[in-house]
Amino acid sequence: MADKIPVVVIVGGGFGGLAAARALKKAPVKVILIDRTNHHLFQPLLYQVATSVLSPGHIASPIRSILKKNNNATVILGNVIGVDVAGRRIISDLADRKGISLPYDYLILATGAQHSYFGHPEFETHAPGLKGLADAVAVRNRILQAFEIAEAEEDPALHRDLLTFVLVGAGPTGVEMASAIAVMVRSTLKREFRRIDPATVRIVLIDRGVRPLAAFAENLSEAAKRRLQQLGVEVRLGQSVEQVDDQGVIVSGERIFSKTVIWTAGVTASPAAQWLNTEVDHAGRVRVKPDLSISDHPEIFVVGDTASLDHDGKPLPGVAQVAIQQGRYAGNVILQRLSGKPAPHPFRYFDKGNLAVVGKGFAVLESGKVRLSGFSALLVWAAVHLEFLAQSNLRVSVFVQWAWTYATGQRGSRLIVKHHCDQPRPCGD
Ligand SMILES: Cc1cc2nc3c(=O)[nH]c(=O)nc-3n(C[C@H](O)[C@H](O)[C@H](O)COP(=O)(O)OP(=O)(O)OC[C@H]3O[C@@H](n4cnc5c(N)ncnc54)[C@H](O)[C@@H]3O)c2cc1C
Repeated sequence: MADKIPVVVIVGGGFGGLAAARALKKAPVKVILIDRTNHHLFQPLLYQVATSVLSPGHIASPIRSILKKNNNATVILGNVIGVDVAGRRIISDLADRKGISLPYDYLILATGAQHSYFGHPEFETHAPGLKGLADAVAVRNRILQAFEIAEAEEDPALHRDLLTFVLVGAGPTGVEMASAIAVMVRSTLKREFRRIDPATVRIVLIDRGVRPLAAFAENLSEAAKRRLQQLGVEVRLGQSVEQVDDQGVIVSGERIFSKTVIWTAGVTASPAAQWLNTEVDHAGRVRVKPDLSISDHPEIFVVGDTASLDHDGKPLPGVAQVAIQQGRYAGNVILQRLSGKPAPHPFRYFDKGNLAVVGKGFAVLESGKVRLSGFSALLVWAAVHLEFLAQSNLRVSVFVQWAWTYATGQRGSRLIVKHHCDQPRPCGD
């Protein structure tokens, strides 16, 4: 009887899961990739969907289409709810079939992260975050609707609240969102609304840290802050949000009235650690060994935002490059083992650097000793993002849309699309 072909189950078709599947493309294994959505999402550009530059179809592609040339890979739409570690099976809901169990020989968990409201889950109702496509469309709806209602509103107080946008968290997403809203107001919307004076629109970016883009060098943070201020964004640093409700926020004791609060602060790991009942870090991420497997289970790997691994004494950041490199590495470890070769060197992250856009024609870049800000950094940002989009048709259409928006100020998708379960929280990703 022929030897059984080993089954590698990958949970998650994000950056980590896809990189693992690609690394196993030619391996003598059966790959089963399970994701609760049918698409791979390019999260770094979610803010451009939320601010109407791009449409959802620009930044997401069907996973089965991306893997169509991986003949050993089967893609399944399913929501994994647990792992039977001893029995080597994953438990998943597949449409209306609940609790289906699937066997594996190797398991790679790449389930990403979710929003964290720092112990205040009640904030979520009033301050949606950006994680999935539905979140981005819901935020876009809120922003566009605020302008639509303000155009007809007679009450000055309500008019003010509608035109005040608060973003909580001045990391890359908060900075990119705040500056993109400012550009949208001052370019696109200025020409089309008759009763909204762009100068009265207030955009407030809040962070409890002392500088925006804290992961960047100080001079780049400072350049980003100056640019935000030039765009009219009010940057409030060293201040904590104490309350988020239907009237807005309370920040360091002061009430800011707003109808649109957007959460761009923390993330916490997916519940994978609970499935494995293993060691976690303070953010709930699974502590992995240097080969990305977990203690006592060399057949289980955890990669990307779900994993916690220290590098040169510091935890690796939750960024796409870490997930891609870890997914590729985990796939290669399995390949080595199957071919009886010695284990590869422990995982080492190659940090290619950080990038963030701040409004029109301006970005900041830090890569090793190179620090850039301005248009040249924006060109690098655009090239890197286009390169990492999953499919070539998206690269072309995103490039064309960016060029069009840059030249004309016109946005790709400024539609308010209501869904029966859009409020207060979209129905899943
Ligand atoms: C708004 C935003 C902006 C960002 N900007 C940047 C940036 O500019 N640069 C950068 O490097 N990084 C950025 N990141 C971070 C980057 O996107 C993540 O680090 C990266 O996506 C992590 O990859 P991953 O494979 O671990 O998880 P993800 O890419 O999140 O993929 C996880 C996958 O698992 C699936 N999944 C989750 N749970 C289950 C389940 N129970 N069952 C089945 N499937 C499941 C999800 O549907 C998803 O497809 C950003 C993130 C966000 C949210």
